[in-house]
Amino acid sequence: MKIAVMKEIHEGEKRVPLIPPTVEKLVKLGAELEVEADLGLSCRYDNGDYEKAGARINSSREDMLKTADIILRLRKPPLAEIDLMKKGCIHISYLDPFNETELVDKLADAGISAVSLEMIPRTTVAQKMDVLSSQANLGGYVSVILAAEQLDKIFPMMTTPAGTIKPARVFIIGVGVAGLQAIATARRLGARVEAFDTRPVVEEQVKSLGAKFVKIDLGETGQTKDGYAKQLTPEQMQMQKEGMAKACALADVVITTAQLFGRPAPRIVDRAMIAQMQPGSVIIDMAVETGGNVEGSELDKVVEVEGVKVVGLGNLPGRVALTASQMYSSNLGNFVDHFWDKEAKTFNLNLDDEIMRGALITHNNEIVSEMYKSIKNK
Ligand code: NAD
Repeated sequence: MKIAVMKEIHEGEKRVPLIPPTVEKLVKLGAELEVEADLGLSCRYDNGDYEKAGARINSSREDMLKTADIILRLRKPPLAEIDLMKKGCIHISYLDPFNETELVDKLADAGISAVSLEMIPRTTVAQKMDVLSSQANLGGYVSVILAAEQLDKIFPMMTTPAGTIKPARVFIIGVGVAGLQAIATARRLGARVEAFDTRPVVEEQVKSLGAKFVKIDLGETGQTKDGYAKQLTPEQMQMQKEGMAKACALADVVITTAQLFGRPAPRIVDRAMIAQMQPGSVIIDMAVETGGNVEGSELDKVVEVEGVKVVGLGNLPGRVALTASQMYSSNLGNFVDHFWDKEAKTFNLNLDDEIMRGALITHNNEIVSEMYKSIKNK
């Protein structure tokens, strides 16, 4: 079975989908690996490193797309490449399906079996393949490093002959994978950290990292069976804003990470709240690529709103591209390994497996994901 690994063509993307150690692992399983020439250069892996790991280098992208049984890549495929793929080809990547309905339709029409790595269920078995978690974890880390760089104060308390400097105050909104790592990183740098999430279950996790949980009574909130937040009512959103305004006003740094699965991110920090903050404070909007949590944030820009620096830089994991590639590659390798029939030496697209049922969007010329269909029809 021929597995082709495509070089990323999205502008500015430095992450690499598969690194040589994972190539070696898949070759040992009996897979025939072909990687596009210069696949790993942005992370300093050259073609020779891939050849040593057992892959063949191909410099014709078109030829690779036309002959692959399985295609691995980082981001969604461009529409124009779908017609080149063989019918029945298994395509594994991020797909962003809820924002890419035309792409999903085209993949179905072309008879591609497209796996969306974002849709891997949040189960214990699937943790090792969970790209959302591995990349969000790094994004959380990077958000704090960016904030520390933008802020003209230091994070830790310092007692010096020149006086005592108070620790910076960091407020983190949304405590999923990214938020937890942001708390841990800000704490390691010595900041005083507060956090809030609409899912009350995270209070214990926040406390265990040495941060304070900001309590706001929003009535019934809850979470989905996969652990994702439910959308708030407009009244609850207003209560949340009022409850958070004080924590924002006292913070030197606000980091927002709030996301809603399959929907645009909730808008939770408005201009009035920003106006209450000290000039020179910093807001990092980690949700800027899915619509933004912060009024006025702009993708890939640092803008000033009411004297506060609002940072809307996208692709935060891409700023630590080597680590992000190691993790993504490992997730991808574990996914292929999980479905690999070790005797027949083939990938078994096992529809009885709940991970495949969750992640497979199109198959046999149809859209097969129940989750995709239910959210799209809402
Ligand atoms: P996410 O990226 O979808 O959202 C980030 C956070 O934003 C969530 O904690 C969410 O509750 C919060 N949020 C949404 N609306 C908000 C609002 N209005 N105000 C404040 N916060 C808001 O979440 P995620 O990081 O993917 O994690 C979701 C859950 O899944 C977490 O509990 C995580 O621990 C769990 N998880 C489980 C597994 C597993 O068991 N395999 C793997 C990964 C994550």
